[in-house]
Amino acid sequence: MYDKICRSCGTYLSDYFRTGMLGCPHCYAAFRVEISKTLKKIQKSAHHEGKIPTLNSVDRELYAEYKRLLAEKETAVLESRFSDVKKISDELIDLKSELERRGLI
Ligand SMILES: [Zn+2]
Repeated sequence: MYDKICRSCGTYLSDYFRTGMLGCPHCYAAFRVEISKTLKKIQKSAHHEGKIPTLNSVDRELYAEYKRLLAEKETAVLESRFSDVKKISDELIDLKSELERRGLI
């Protein structure tokens, strides 16, 4: 079966689909394509059924991840870990656009 793994924490894509939980900040980057496909599917069916989209576990997970990365970036800045700051900033850009697209921020 097709599966992917997050190299940072060992979470499988199939685990994410089963639990809706990301294991670590890198999961989102590792599974980005699949997550965005899933989200599109959810939005499509929500639209089709005429329901108002509610905050689901994926939304909450993404938002919590965003907050966590912001805090992590701040720590990295304070500790002058500039390569980490750059890395986290890149992840934040992706996450932020996803959150904005979903109307969460
Ligand atoms: Zn992970």
